[in-house]
Amino acid sequence: MNPLSGADCVAAPRPDIPPGGVPQPRILRLNLAGQPIEWLHWQEAVCLYARELVAWSLGDVVQKVRGGLCRATGLRSEIGLPSIIACGGGRMARPRTSYPLSNLALFARDRYRCLYCARPFQALELTRDHVVPLSRGGRDRWENVVTACRRCNQHKGNRMLEDIGWELLALPYRPNNAEYLALINSRRILVDQMDFLAAQFSPNGRALI
Ligand SMILES: [Zn+2]
Repeated sequence: MNPLSGADCVAAPRPDIPPGGVPQPRILRLNLAGQPIEWLHWQEAVCLYARELVAWSLGDVVQKVRGGLCRATGLRSEIGLPSIIACGGGRMARPRTSYPLSNLALFARDRYRCLYCARPFQALELTRDHVVPLSRGGRDRWENVVTACRRCNQHKGNRMLEDIGWELLALPYRPNNAEYLALINSRRILVDQMDFLAAQFSPNGRALI
């Protein structure tokens, strides 16, 4: 009998940060080939276990979840949710090949530093700067955007770097699938999850570690 058959399998939206608590870690979902697919809330992971779709897992237990009562023993079941799970199902999930360019992921890519003055900032103090300005034909894409503080962004305006003699601290790059997942969860990623994803980083992405 599935130990979680009595578990509530409706993934109700719940706050990531419980009152007075620490942000709940996410669970990294892989496909059966071991390719990272997405981050799950623990409720979604419970559903996958209840549907017996989890083929194998890795990493430490991040959360213990109590299931239903076993009819035979009258005992309540419990499962430890690991930090990484590989799931099957009808069609094998494919990693994404394009990733939305959000400021959250961009700032994480550049490690919350202004790539002009090299100083670290809080997210609220940072902006997205187009290396080749939009007004000069630059595109709003990963390879043409960097994190910049408001001061540097304002000073640069719609000029090219060579116009003002500036250099970038690092070259902008498009993250691959593993890098993107690490970026969008960078504030609460667990060590074993980072280790797993880092093995699939490109040479550029090694700067994330
Ligand atoms: Zn700056």
